[in-house]
Amino acid sequence: MPNMNSKAGHKAIRTCVVCRQKSVQTELLSFVLLPSGIAYDPARLLQARKFYVCPHQACLVQMPKWKKRRQKGRRP
Ligand SMILES: [Zn+2]
Repeated sequence: MPNMNSKAGHKAIRTCVVCRQKSVQTELLSFVLLPSGIAYDPARLLQARKFYVCPHQACLVQMPKWKKRRQKGRRP
């Protein structure tokens, strides 16, 4: 079977932290959590805890909420 899509075969699946929907990593926006707050990291240059969010406004606007929730429910 000819491979028309060079990315086919090894698609990394990630989960949106807001809506928990699984998507291909390339279709999600990658962010990092810094002490100063959330930073968009499209080039994945930052060495920090990474998380993914769908490129939908519904999810993006909930990110601050998610961050708060995450910090409150921090596990030891
Ligand atoms: Zn989402």
